[in-house]
Amino acid sequence: MATTIATSVQEKDIAKVERIGAHSHIRGLGLDDALEPRTTSQGMVGQLQARKAAGVILEMIKEGKIAGRAVLMAGAPGTGKTAIAMGMAQSLGPDVPFTMLAASEIFSLEMSKTEALTQAFRRSIGVRIKEETELIEGEVVEIQIDRIAAGSTAKTGKLTLKTTEMETIYDLGSKMIEALNKEKVSAGDVITIDKASGRITRLGRSFARARDYDAMGPETKFVQCPEGELQKRKEVVHTVTLHEIDVINSRTQGFLALFSGDTGEIKPEVRDQINQKVSEWREEGKAEIVPGVLFIDEVHMLDIECFSYLNRALEDDLAPVVIMASNRGITRIRGTKYRSPHGIPVDLLDRALIIATSPYTHKEVAQILAIRCEEEDVEMTDEAKEVLTQIGLDTSLRYAIHMITAAHLVARKRRATAVDVQDIKRVYALFLDEKRSVTYLREFQQQFMF
Ligand code: ATP
Repeated sequence: MATTIATSVQEKDIAKVERIGAHSHIRGLGLDDALEPRTTSQGMVGQLQARKAAGVILEMIKEGKIAGRAVLMAGAPGTGKTAIAMGMAQSLGPDVPFTMLAASEIFSLEMSKTEALTQAFRRSIGVRIKEETELIEGEVVEIQIDRIAAGSTAKTGKLTLKTTEMETIYDLGSKMIEALNKEKVSAGDVITIDKASGRITRLGRSFARARDYDAMGPETKFVQCPEGELQKRKEVVHTVTLHEIDVINSRTQGFLALFSGDTGEIKPEVRDQINQKVSEWREEGKAEIVPGVLFIDEVHMLDIECFSYLNRALEDDLAPVVIMASNRGITRIRGTKYRSPHGIPVDLLDRALIIATSPYTHKEVAQILAIRCEEEDVEMTDEAKEVLTQIGLDTSLRYAIHMITAAHLVARKRRATAVDVQDIKRVYALFLDEKRSVTYLREFQQQFMF
Protein backbone atom coordinates (compact mmCIF):
# COMPACT_ATOMS: atom_id res chain seq x y z
CA MET A 1 0.00 0.00 0.00
CA ALA A 2 1.41 3.36 -0.95
CA THR A 3 -0.16 5.34 1.84
CA THR A 4 1.92 8.04 3.41
CA ILE A 5 1.31 8.39 7.07
CA ALA A 6 2.13 11.78 8.51
CA THR A 7 3.70 11.82 11.95
CA SER A 8 4.83 15.36 12.44
CA VAL A 9 3.52 17.24 15.41
CA GLN A 10 5.29 19.97 17.34
CA GLU A 11 3.46 20.28 20.62
CA LYS A 12 2.38 17.85 23.29
CA ASP A 13 -1.11 17.71 24.67
CA ILE A 14 -1.68 20.60 26.99
CA ALA A 15 -4.97 19.46 28.46
CA LYS A 16 -5.03 18.43 32.13
CA VAL A 17 -2.44 21.01 33.20
CA GLU A 18 -4.84 22.45 35.71
CA ARG A 19 -5.48 19.11 37.40
CA ILE A 20 -1.78 18.65 37.90
CA GLY A 21 -1.46 21.86 39.96
CA ALA A 22 -2.45 20.10 43.18
CA HIS A 23 0.50 17.76 42.72
CA SER A 24 3.10 20.25 41.50
CA HIS A 25 5.25 19.48 44.56
CA ILE A 26 5.63 15.86 43.47
CA ARG A 27 8.86 15.36 41.53
CA GLY A 28 9.11 11.60 41.55
CA LEU A 29 8.49 8.58 43.74
CA GLY A 30 11.36 9.40 46.09
CA LEU A 31 13.03 6.00 45.83
CA ASP A 32 16.73 5.20 46.06
CA ASP A 33 18.59 3.12 43.47
CA ALA A 34 17.53 -0.11 45.16
CA LEU A 35 13.89 1.02 44.82
CA GLU A 36 13.66 1.58 48.58
CA PRO A 37 11.50 4.59 49.44
CA ARG A 38 13.18 7.46 51.27
CA THR A 39 10.86 8.69 54.07
CA THR A 40 10.56 12.13 52.51
CA SER A 41 11.96 12.75 49.08
CA GLN A 42 11.01 14.41 45.80
CA GLY A 43 7.99 15.95 47.51
CA MET A 44 6.71 12.53 48.60
CA VAL A 45 5.97 11.76 52.22
CA GLY A 46 5.32 8.34 53.83
CA GLN A 47 3.10 5.79 52.03
CA LEU A 48 6.24 3.68 51.80
CA GLN A 49 4.74 0.34 50.76
CA ALA A 50 2.65 1.83 47.97
CA ARG A 51 5.55 3.93 46.67
CA LYS A 52 7.81 0.92 46.62
CA ALA A 53 5.20 -1.13 44.75
CA ALA A 54 4.77 1.73 42.29
CA GLY A 55 8.55 1.77 41.83
CA VAL A 56 8.58 -1.92 40.94
CA ILE A 57 5.83 -1.36 38.39
CA LEU A 58 7.73 1.58 36.97
CA GLU A 59 10.80 -0.56 36.53
CA MET A 60 8.74 -3.16 34.65
CA ILE A 61 7.26 -0.45 32.45
CA LYS A 62 10.72 0.89 31.65
CA GLU A 63 11.87 -2.57 30.66
CA GLY A 64 8.80 -2.87 28.46
CA LYS A 65 7.69 -5.94 30.40
CA ILE A 66 4.15 -5.14 31.38
CA ALA A 67 2.36 -3.48 28.52
CA GLY A 68 -1.30 -4.39 28.57
CA ARG A 69 -1.44 -4.90 32.31
CA ALA A 70 -3.73 -3.26 34.80
CA VAL A 71 -2.82 -1.79 38.16
CA LEU A 72 -5.35 -0.66 40.74
CA MET A 73 -4.55 1.89 43.42
CA ALA A 74 -7.08 1.45 46.17
CA GLY A 75 -7.39 3.57 49.29
CA ALA A 76 -9.36 6.21 51.14
CA PRO A 77 -9.73 9.72 49.67
CA GLY A 78 -6.63 11.88 49.95
CA THR A 79 -4.22 9.04 50.61
CA GLY A 80 -2.03 9.94 47.68
CA LYS A 81 -3.23 7.63 44.90
CA THR A 82 -3.08 10.38 42.32
CA ALA A 83 0.10 11.77 43.87
CA ILE A 84 1.82 8.41 43.43
CA ALA A 85 0.62 8.15 39.84
CA MET A 86 2.05 11.63 39.21
CA GLY A 87 5.30 10.52 40.82
CA MET A 88 5.41 7.61 38.39
CA ALA A 89 4.74 9.93 35.47
CA GLN A 90 7.68 12.12 36.50
CA SER A 91 10.00 9.14 36.59
CA LEU A 92 9.10 7.78 33.16
CA GLY A 93 11.42 8.64 30.31
CA PRO A 94 10.70 11.92 28.51
CA ASP A 95 9.17 10.18 25.51
CA VAL A 96 7.01 7.70 27.40
CA PRO A 97 3.42 8.92 27.17
CA PHE A 98 1.41 9.36 30.36
CA THR A 99 -2.28 10.13 29.99
CA MET A 100 -4.59 11.08 32.82
CA LEU A 101 -8.31 10.59 32.61
CA ALA A 102 -11.05 11.04 35.18
CA ALA A 103 -13.52 8.25 34.45
CA SER A 104 -16.48 10.65 34.32
CA GLU A 105 -14.81 12.58 31.47
CA ILE A 106 -15.68 9.85 29.02
CA PHE A 107 -19.40 10.44 29.39
CA SER A 108 -19.47 13.32 26.94
CA LEU A 109 -21.94 14.14 24.24
CA GLU A 110 -19.27 14.62 21.59
CA MET A 111 -18.26 11.03 21.19
CA SER A 112 -19.20 7.57 22.31
CA LYS A 113 -17.74 6.11 25.50
CA THR A 114 -15.69 3.56 23.61
CA GLU A 115 -14.33 6.16 21.21
CA ALA A 116 -13.25 8.29 24.19
CA LEU A 117 -11.55 5.28 25.75
CA THR A 118 -9.92 4.30 22.46
CA GLN A 119 -8.50 7.80 22.13
CA ALA A 120 -7.21 7.63 25.72
CA PHE A 121 -5.58 4.28 24.98
CA ARG A 122 -3.95 5.53 21.81
CA ARG A 123 -2.71 8.70 23.50
CA SER A 124 -0.84 6.39 25.86
CA ILE A 125 1.09 4.51 23.18
CA GLY A 126 4.18 6.15 21.78
CA VAL A 127 5.73 5.38 18.43
CA ARG A 128 9.44 6.11 18.41
CA ILE A 129 10.32 6.84 14.83
CA LYS A 130 13.87 6.78 13.57
CA GLU A 131 14.69 8.89 10.60
CA GLU A 132 18.01 9.48 8.94
CA THR A 133 18.64 13.07 8.12
CA GLU A 134 19.82 14.18 4.80
CA LEU A 135 23.31 15.54 4.66
CA ILE A 136 23.47 19.28 4.39
CA GLU A 137 26.05 21.26 2.52
CA GLY A 138 29.18 21.91 4.55
CA GLU A 139 27.95 19.83 7.46
CA VAL A 140 30.30 17.71 9.50
CA VAL A 141 28.95 14.21 9.80
CA GLU A 142 30.09 11.21 11.72
CA ILE A 143 30.07 7.81 10.14
CA GLN A 144 30.31 4.69 12.19
CA ILE A 145 32.35 1.97 10.61
CA ASP A 146 30.84 -1.29 11.71
CA ARG A 147 32.35 -3.79 9.42
CA ILE A 148 34.32 -2.93 6.39
CA ALA A 149 34.44 -6.16 4.49
CA ALA A 150 34.20 -9.79 5.33
CA GLY A 151 37.62 -11.31 5.86
CA SER A 152 39.37 -7.96 5.84
CA THR A 153 41.59 -6.70 8.60
CA ALA A 154 38.41 -4.99 9.64
CA LYS A 155 38.56 -1.58 11.13
CA THR A 156 35.92 -0.34 13.45
CA GLY A 157 35.60 3.15 14.72
CA LYS A 158 34.22 6.49 13.86
CA LEU A 159 34.99 8.59 10.88
CA THR A 160 34.36 12.27 10.88
CA LEU A 161 33.64 13.54 7.44
CA LYS A 162 32.80 16.94 6.16
CA THR A 163 30.51 17.35 3.25
CA THR A 164 31.08 20.16 0.84
CA GLU A 165 27.87 19.76 -1.05
CA MET A 166 25.25 17.08 -1.32
CA GLU A 167 26.67 15.68 -4.52
CA THR A 168 30.15 15.19 -3.12
CA ILE A 169 28.88 12.40 -0.95
CA TYR A 170 29.83 9.68 -3.31
CA ASP A 171 29.52 6.00 -2.95
CA LEU A 172 32.74 4.42 -4.04
CA GLY A 173 31.72 0.91 -3.12
CA SER A 174 34.43 -1.69 -3.08
CA LYS A 175 37.14 0.72 -4.11
CA MET A 176 36.58 2.61 -0.94
CA ILE A 177 36.61 -0.48 1.19
CA GLU A 178 39.96 -1.35 -0.29
CA ALA A 179 41.27 2.09 0.42
CA LEU A 180 40.06 2.00 4.00
CA ASN A 181 41.64 -1.35 4.50
CA LYS A 182 45.02 -0.06 3.39
CA GLU A 183 44.94 2.89 5.75
CA LYS A 184 44.65 2.81 9.47
CA VAL A 185 41.37 4.52 10.14
CA SER A 186 40.20 5.15 13.65
CA ALA A 187 37.82 7.27 15.66
CA GLY A 188 37.94 10.93 14.82
CA ASP A 189 39.91 10.48 11.60
CA VAL A 190 39.08 12.76 8.74
CA ILE A 191 39.55 11.36 5.29
CA THR A 192 38.97 12.32 1.73
CA ILE A 193 38.78 9.95 -1.12
CA ASP A 194 39.76 10.57 -4.65
CA LYS A 195 36.66 10.04 -6.71
CA ALA A 196 38.44 8.66 -9.73
CA SER A 197 40.95 6.33 -8.14
CA GLY A 198 39.17 5.61 -4.88
CA ARG A 199 42.41 6.29 -3.03
CA ILE A 200 42.42 7.97 0.33
CA THR A 201 44.23 11.12 -0.42
CA ARG A 202 44.42 12.75 2.96
CA LEU A 203 44.04 11.42 6.41
CA GLY A 204 44.02 13.79 9.31
CA ARG A 205 42.57 14.23 12.75
CA SER A 206 41.15 17.71 12.84
CA PHE A 207 38.26 19.60 11.35
CA ALA A 208 40.63 22.42 10.49
CA ARG A 209 42.42 20.13 8.13
CA ALA A 210 39.19 18.82 6.79
CA ARG A 211 38.27 22.35 5.89
CA ASP A 212 41.44 22.63 3.84
CA TYR A 213 40.16 19.83 1.67
CA ASP A 214 37.48 22.10 0.29
CA ALA A 215 40.17 23.77 -1.70
CA MET A 216 41.21 20.50 -3.28
CA GLY A 217 38.73 20.75 -6.09
CA PRO A 218 35.87 18.66 -7.39
CA GLU A 219 37.93 15.54 -7.94
CA THR A 220 38.24 15.08 -4.20
CA LYS A 221 35.19 13.41 -2.77
CA PHE A 222 34.04 12.44 0.61
CA VAL A 223 32.46 9.10 1.14
CA GLN A 224 29.14 7.64 2.04
CA CYS A 225 28.70 4.13 3.35
CA PRO A 226 28.51 1.53 0.63
CA GLU A 227 25.49 -0.73 1.02
CA GLY A 228 25.13 -0.35 4.73
CA GLU A 229 28.69 -1.35 5.57
CA LEU A 230 29.26 2.05 7.05
CA GLN A 231 26.37 3.55 8.91
CA LYS A 232 25.38 7.10 8.65
CA ARG A 233 25.30 8.25 12.25
CA LYS A 234 23.02 11.20 11.92
CA GLU A 235 19.75 9.77 13.05
CA VAL A 236 16.79 11.74 14.27
CA VAL A 237 14.49 10.00 16.67
CA HIS A 238 11.14 11.46 17.57
CA THR A 239 8.22 10.02 19.44
CA VAL A 240 4.59 10.70 18.69
CA THR A 241 1.55 8.95 20.08
CA LEU A 242 -0.72 6.71 18.06
CA HIS A 243 -3.52 9.17 18.73
CA GLU A 244 -1.48 12.01 17.27
CA ILE A 245 -0.83 9.96 14.14
CA ASP A 246 -4.57 9.17 13.97
CA VAL A 247 -5.56 12.82 14.18
CA ILE A 248 -2.94 14.09 11.75
CA ASN A 249 -4.07 11.54 9.18
CA SER A 250 -7.74 11.98 9.73
CA ARG A 251 -9.16 14.10 6.95
CA THR A 252 -12.13 15.33 8.91
CA GLN A 253 -10.08 16.45 11.89
CA GLY A 254 -6.74 17.72 10.65
CA PHE A 255 -3.86 18.21 13.00
CA LEU A 256 -5.04 21.58 14.38
CA ALA A 257 -7.59 19.50 16.29
CA LEU A 258 -4.71 18.36 18.50
CA PHE A 259 -4.34 21.88 19.84
CA SER A 260 -8.01 22.55 20.42
CA GLY A 261 -8.52 19.09 21.89
CA ASP A 262 -11.60 18.83 19.71
CA THR A 263 -10.69 15.72 17.78
CA GLY A 264 -14.17 14.27 17.29
CA GLU A 265 -14.54 10.60 16.42
CA ILE A 266 -11.86 8.98 14.30
CA LYS A 267 -12.85 6.47 11.63
CA PRO A 268 -11.87 2.86 12.33
CA GLU A 269 -10.41 2.62 8.78
CA VAL A 270 -7.92 5.36 9.61
CA ARG A 271 -6.81 3.48 12.70
CA ASP A 272 -6.55 0.17 10.85
CA GLN A 273 -4.40 1.76 8.22
CA ILE A 274 -2.16 3.34 10.81
CA ASN A 275 -1.79 0.13 12.79
CA GLN A 276 -0.77 -1.65 9.64
CA LYS A 277 1.73 1.03 8.70
CA VAL A 278 3.22 1.09 12.19
CA SER A 279 3.62 -2.66 12.16
CA GLU A 280 5.42 -2.40 8.79
CA TRP A 281 7.75 0.24 10.23
CA ARG A 282 8.45 -2.02 13.19
CA GLU A 283 9.36 -4.89 10.92
CA GLU A 284 11.64 -2.65 8.89
CA GLY A 285 13.28 -1.40 12.08
CA LYS A 286 12.12 2.15 11.42
CA ALA A 287 9.96 2.43 14.49
CA GLU A 288 9.43 0.94 17.88
CA ILE A 289 6.45 0.99 20.17
CA VAL A 290 6.76 2.75 23.50
CA PRO A 291 3.93 1.53 25.74
CA GLY A 292 3.03 4.35 28.09
CA VAL A 293 0.68 4.71 31.03
CA LEU A 294 -3.02 5.48 31.06
CA PHE A 295 -4.16 6.63 34.51
CA ILE A 296 -7.92 6.34 35.08
CA ASP A 297 -8.96 8.17 38.23
CA GLU A 298 -12.28 7.41 40.00
CA VAL A 299 -12.48 4.23 37.96
CA HIS A 300 -15.73 3.21 39.72
CA MET A 301 -17.43 5.87 37.57
CA LEU A 302 -16.98 3.68 34.48
CA ASP A 303 -19.91 1.45 33.55
CA ILE A 304 -20.05 -2.20 32.56
CA GLU A 305 -19.65 -1.42 28.84
CA CYS A 306 -16.48 0.51 29.54
CA PHE A 307 -15.15 -2.30 31.72
CA SER A 308 -15.79 -4.82 28.93
CA TYR A 309 -13.96 -2.51 26.56
CA LEU A 310 -11.02 -2.30 28.98
CA ASN A 311 -10.83 -6.05 29.31
CA ARG A 312 -10.72 -6.46 25.56
CA ALA A 313 -8.39 -3.54 24.86
CA LEU A 314 -5.85 -4.76 27.38
CA GLU A 315 -5.42 -7.91 25.30
CA ASP A 316 -4.36 -5.89 22.28
CA ASP A 317 -0.80 -5.85 21.01
CA LEU A 318 -0.72 -2.11 21.28
CA ALA A 319 -1.93 -1.66 24.85
CA PRO A 320 -0.48 0.67 27.47
CA VAL A 321 -0.22 -0.04 31.19
CA VAL A 322 -3.54 0.98 32.69
CA ILE A 323 -3.40 2.34 36.23
CA MET A 324 -6.80 2.73 37.85
CA ALA A 325 -7.58 4.46 41.13
CA SER A 326 -10.61 4.15 43.36
CA ASN A 327 -11.56 5.28 46.85
CA ARG A 328 -14.71 3.15 46.97
CA GLY A 329 -15.27 0.00 48.96
CA ILE A 330 -17.83 -2.58 47.85
CA THR A 331 -20.19 -0.78 45.58
CA ARG A 332 -22.47 -1.28 42.60
CA ILE A 333 -20.90 -1.73 39.16
CA ARG A 334 -22.46 1.02 37.09
CA GLY A 335 -24.89 -0.29 34.50
CA THR A 336 -25.60 -3.48 36.46
CA LYS A 337 -27.33 -4.43 39.67
CA TYR A 338 -24.27 -6.27 40.98
CA ARG A 339 -21.96 -5.09 43.69
CA SER A 340 -18.24 -5.72 43.66
CA PRO A 341 -15.04 -4.40 45.29
CA HIS A 342 -14.38 -0.80 44.13
CA GLY A 343 -17.29 -1.16 41.67
CA ILE A 344 -14.96 -3.05 39.31
CA PRO A 345 -16.03 -6.38 37.75
CA VAL A 346 -14.11 -9.28 39.27
CA ASP A 347 -12.63 -10.47 35.98
CA LEU A 348 -10.91 -7.11 35.53
CA LEU A 349 -9.91 -7.04 39.21
CA ASP A 350 -8.44 -10.46 38.77
CA ARG A 351 -5.98 -9.29 36.17
CA ALA A 352 -4.94 -6.19 38.12
CA LEU A 353 -1.99 -5.74 40.42
CA ILE A 354 -3.45 -3.98 43.45
CA ILE A 355 -1.60 -1.31 45.40
CA ALA A 356 -3.23 -0.18 48.65
CA THR A 357 -2.70 3.24 50.21
CA SER A 358 -3.20 3.77 53.93
CA PRO A 359 -4.19 6.79 56.03
CA TYR A 360 -1.50 9.27 57.12
CA THR A 361 -0.15 9.85 60.59
CA HIS A 362 -0.14 13.24 62.29
CA LYS A 363 3.54 13.72 61.42
CA GLU A 364 3.02 12.82 57.78
CA VAL A 365 0.09 15.21 57.35
CA ALA A 366 2.23 17.95 58.95
CA GLN A 367 5.05 17.23 56.51
CA ILE A 368 2.80 17.23 53.45
CA LEU A 369 1.28 20.54 54.52
CA ALA A 370 4.74 22.02 55.12
CA ILE A 371 5.80 20.95 51.61
CA ARG A 372 2.65 22.52 50.14
CA CYS A 373 3.33 25.80 52.02
CA GLU A 374 6.79 25.88 50.53
CA GLU A 375 5.45 25.02 47.07
CA GLU A 376 2.92 27.87 47.26
CA ASP A 377 5.47 30.23 48.77
CA VAL A 378 3.42 30.76 51.92
CA GLU A 379 4.98 31.63 55.29
CA MET A 380 3.10 30.08 58.19
CA THR A 381 3.74 30.15 61.94
CA ASP A 382 4.35 26.84 63.71
CA GLU A 383 1.11 27.24 65.70
CA ALA A 384 -0.91 27.76 62.52
CA LYS A 385 0.76 24.72 60.94
CA GLU A 386 -0.24 22.64 63.94
CA VAL A 387 -3.87 23.81 63.75
CA LEU A 388 -3.93 23.13 60.02
CA THR A 389 -2.52 19.63 60.57
CA GLN A 390 -5.25 18.90 63.07
CA ILE A 391 -7.85 20.13 60.59
CA GLY A 392 -6.28 17.87 57.94
CA LEU A 393 -6.67 14.88 60.23
CA ASP A 394 -10.22 15.74 61.30
CA THR A 395 -11.57 16.69 57.88
CA SER A 396 -9.44 15.80 54.88
CA LEU A 397 -5.90 16.40 53.69
CA ARG A 398 -7.22 18.00 50.53
CA TYR A 399 -9.36 20.48 52.47
CA ALA A 400 -6.37 21.45 54.61
CA ILE A 401 -4.21 21.91 51.49
CA HIS A 402 -6.88 24.16 49.95
CA MET A 403 -6.94 26.27 53.09
CA ILE A 404 -3.30 27.30 52.60
CA THR A 405 -3.97 29.68 49.68
CA ALA A 406 -7.15 31.08 51.19
CA ALA A 407 -5.47 31.68 54.59
CA HIS A 408 -2.57 33.35 52.82
CA LEU A 409 -4.97 35.80 51.18
CA VAL A 410 -6.62 36.53 54.51
CA ALA A 411 -3.22 37.10 56.15
CA ARG A 412 -2.19 39.46 53.35
CA LYS A 413 -5.37 41.49 53.88
CA ARG A 414 -4.25 42.23 57.41
CA ARG A 415 -0.74 42.96 56.11
CA ALA A 416 0.86 40.06 57.90
CA THR A 417 3.82 38.29 56.33
CA ALA A 418 3.03 34.91 57.86
CA VAL A 419 -0.24 33.03 58.12
CA ASP A 420 -1.26 32.72 61.76
CA VAL A 421 -3.89 30.77 63.70
CA GLN A 422 -6.46 33.56 63.29
CA ASP A 423 -6.22 33.33 59.50
CA ILE A 424 -6.76 29.58 59.61
CA LYS A 425 -9.78 30.08 61.89
CA ARG A 426 -11.22 32.71 59.60
CA VAL A 427 -10.95 30.46 56.55
CA TYR A 428 -12.30 27.50 58.48
CA ALA A 429 -15.37 29.57 59.31
CA LEU A 430 -15.77 30.79 55.71
CA PHE A 431 -15.46 27.48 53.88
CA LEU A 432 -17.16 24.28 54.88
CA ASP A 433 -15.38 20.99 54.64
CA GLU A 434 -17.29 17.98 53.40
CA LYS A 435 -18.50 16.81 56.82
CA ARG A 436 -19.82 20.19 57.88
CA SER A 437 -21.38 20.70 54.49
CA VAL A 438 -23.35 17.47 54.89
CA THR A 439 -24.46 18.48 58.40
CA TYR A 440 -25.52 21.86 57.04
CA LEU A 441 -27.50 20.23 54.25
CA ARG A 442 -29.28 17.95 56.69
CA GLU A 443 -30.20 20.87 58.89
CA PHE A 444 -31.48 23.09 56.13
CA GLN A 445 -32.61 20.63 53.49
CA GLN A 446 -36.15 21.95 53.47
CA GLN A 447 -34.91 25.22 52.04
CA PHE A 448 -33.20 23.67 49.00
CA MET A 449 -34.81 22.90 45.67
CA PHE A 450 -35.83 19.34 44.96
P1 ATP B 1 -9.07 10.68 45.97
O1 ATP B 1 -9.44 9.27 46.26
O2 ATP B 1 -9.97 11.62 46.70
O3 ATP B 1 -8.96 10.98 44.50
P2 ATP B 1 -6.18 10.51 46.24
O4 ATP B 1 -5.83 9.29 47.02
O5 ATP B 1 -5.99 10.47 44.77
O6 ATP B 1 -7.65 10.95 46.64
P3 ATP B 1 -4.39 12.74 46.20
O7 ATP B 1 -5.17 13.61 45.29
O8 ATP B 1 -3.20 12.08 45.62
O9 ATP B 1 -5.33 11.69 46.88
O10 ATP B 1 -3.90 13.55 47.49
C1 ATP B 1 -4.48 14.76 47.95
C2 ATP B 1 -3.42 15.83 48.04
O11 ATP B 1 -2.38 15.46 48.96
C3 ATP B 1 -2.71 16.10 46.72
O12 ATP B 1 -2.40 17.47 46.64
C4 ATP B 1 -1.46 15.27 46.83
O13 ATP B 1 -0.42 15.79 46.01
C5 ATP B 1 -1.12 15.36 48.31
N1 ATP B 1 -0.48 14.12 48.77
C6 ATP B 1 -1.13 12.96 49.04
N2 ATP B 1 -0.27 12.03 49.45
C7 ATP B 1 0.95 12.59 49.45
C8 ATP B 1 2.25 12.12 49.81
N3 ATP B 1 2.45 10.88 50.22
N4 ATP B 1 3.28 12.98 49.74
C9 ATP B 1 3.07 14.24 49.31
N5 ATP B 1 1.90 14.74 48.96
C10 ATP B 1 0.83 13.94 49.04
